[in-house]
Amino acid sequence: MTLTFLRPRERAPEIGDVRLLVDGRRVDALDGGTYPTTDPSTGTVLAQVARAREADVDLAVRAARRALDDGPWRVLRPAERARVLVRLADLVATHADELAGLETLDNGKTFVTARAVDVAGAVDLLHYMAGWVTKLGGATVPVSAPGGHHVFTRRQPIGVVGAIVPWNYPLGQAVWKVAPALAAGNAVVLKPAEQTPLSALRLGELALEAGVPPGVLNVVPGLGHDAGAALAAHPLVDKVAFTGSTETGRAIIRAAGGNLKKVSLELGGKSPNVVFADADLEAAIQGAADGIFFNQGEVCTAGSRLYVQEAVHDEVVAGLVAAARRLRIGDGFDERTDVGPLVSREHRDAVCRHVEAGVAAGAELATGGRRVGDAGWFLEPTVFTGARAEMPLVREEIFGPVVAVLPFRDVDDVVAAANDSRFGLAAGVWTGNVGTAHRMAAALRAGTVWVNCYGVFDAAMPFGGIRESGWGKEMGRAVLDDLTEHKTVCVRVAA
Ligand code: NAD
Repeated sequence: MTLTFLRPRERAPEIGDVRLLVDGRRVDALDGGTYPTTDPSTGTVLAQVARAREADVDLAVRAARRALDDGPWRVLRPAERARVLVRLADLVATHADELAGLETLDNGKTFVTARAVDVAGAVDLLHYMAGWVTKLGGATVPVSAPGGHHVFTRRQPIGVVGAIVPWNYPLGQAVWKVAPALAAGNAVVLKPAEQTPLSALRLGELALEAGVPPGVLNVVPGLGHDAGAALAAHPLVDKVAFTGSTETGRAIIRAAGGNLKKVSLELGGKSPNVVFADADLEAAIQGAADGIFFNQGEVCTAGSRLYVQEAVHDEVVAGLVAAARRLRIGDGFDERTDVGPLVSREHRDAVCRHVEAGVAAGAELATGGRRVGDAGWFLEPTVFTGARAEMPLVREEIFGPVVAVLPFRDVDDVVAAANDSRFGLAAGVWTGNVGTAHRMAAALRAGTVWVNCYGVFDAAMPFGGIRESGWGKEMGRAVLDDLTEHKTVCVRVAA
């Protein structure tokens, strides 16, 4: 497979200020520490980013607390808070090319994807959450307690939200946390993934420009085991909203136990995508390919277990292999590129180890599996057949462009196989039979089920996993329940 490696870097934006954003000011880490962030297309260092540690996180959390207690945010009229979020949405849209370029530089994903999905999704979500600000009311409660009482609930911000996000959708994941948290009137300390801090820092600057008061959104790049752990454990953080691996999710829960802060977790997955023989096979094959190869497979909902009904198994495998081989691998800034590099050498090597283990365990490599090019962390889109249910290839999240295709007989057979997982993030079903679609949608143990489509997200659609894929929902109205407290007020009205 060839690398369409043209390096049309004229779209690459300037990398701006890479210091922390604390209390509305750009500052170095207290100990002056930095760490490198690299370009996955070349492996070269893009910038030495300020590295927050425990003391920096503490300053940011205290700034957020002060902004809530003493600043204008708490008393801003809802209509004005909504306008701030709309202004931020507009600023993100105005800076779409710059933000998308930062994503391509830092993460490796294609500029086309960054522009159309990451940035456009962020703009939509900010607008959507702005709409909720003026609608977050409580309720009056009819009570029977003796005496005369007027009881109502107030919907109040939870307080300081510690947001910890991964590298696969750096801006998108940051906005998934920040937009609803701000809409609900909270203050945020955002820790981007160490691999991809650039767009989050720029988002913080744009938020200030939009009128988010200093201290209400702080951005503290740093490593997981110090900055992330400090944020998760901080006694003044009221809620930690985490997206990342299931293993780190467990560490977050333990750290949050100190002050019993609220926790929401969006974790890993091993999502089944199920193709019945009566499906529109052309659409299903394309959906299966997009479901696993989009964004280099670095998608929490990647359809990495593809179950295909026996009668069409070979036809679907042939179509999927052809689709994988058609994909052009290369620099994300090249418009012809479909698949960019993986985010880091460590991650690319980890994905390769999964491929090698799959081969060693006896699965057959139908296509792909090889590294591509001399520089950067490229890997061919990879399709396995002949895997068995107990293999790590079928059980473990790989988080790369690697899919295992498995045959099945009927609905009962595939429901049992698809649900045989510790994860429960998402699932796909491809069928021409509406009854099959509904039976599957009801039976699959997953937070989201897509029918005759895959990977559709929308600001209004609640998204989240069950089992070891997480706690709570993001987006939609549902996320606001996790970011507000319902305070009960009981007023004695009778003499
Ligand atoms: P990760 O868990 O290694 O890191 C995620 C974030 O947690 C990073 O910011 C990291 O610095 C921080 N972190 C690491 N250790 C920490 C600790 N001990 N305490 C506090 N913070 C810590 O995950 P990753 O490799 O960056 O991302 C890939 C994972 O994220 C995959 O498992 C993927 O499925 C998951 N993910 C889930 C969703 C979802 O919505 N369910 C979305 C995207 C990614």
